[in-house]
Amino acid sequence: MAIRIKVGDTVKALSGDDRGESGRVTAIYHGKNMVVVEGMNVVKKSVRRSQKNPQGGKLEKEMPVQISTVQFVCPDCRQSVRLGTRFLPDGSKVRHCRNTEASCSWEDEIAPPNAAT
Ligand SMILES: [Zn+2]
Repeated sequence: MAIRIKVGDTVKALSGDDRGESGRVTAIYHGKNMVVVEGMNVVKKSVRRSQKNPQGGKLEKEMPVQISTVQFVCPDCRQSVRLGTRFLPDGSKVRHCRNTEASCSWEDEIAPPNAAT
């Protein structure tokens, strides 16, 4: 399955400790089908004193989560939805919201014409 989520998107956790929480995607690991989401799957690490961290102490860091455990939250209808993709007449590819109940018309360009693969 191709990853349609992009950095900056808001996603909602479907399972795990963060279930129901939502956050912004800060990184995507395409090869591993994982994403890093702000405030999700946070681990606390002890950090030794160093030049970078003169205080040492605890550092909170988000660890990647499986992309299948999160769902895209549509910026328009504000619901967690499935994303569809389609091509526009000019050849550009867009993502769109598949929330049919809200007849949401949100869409977002993924690839300009010519860049389609
Ligand atoms: Zn929507």
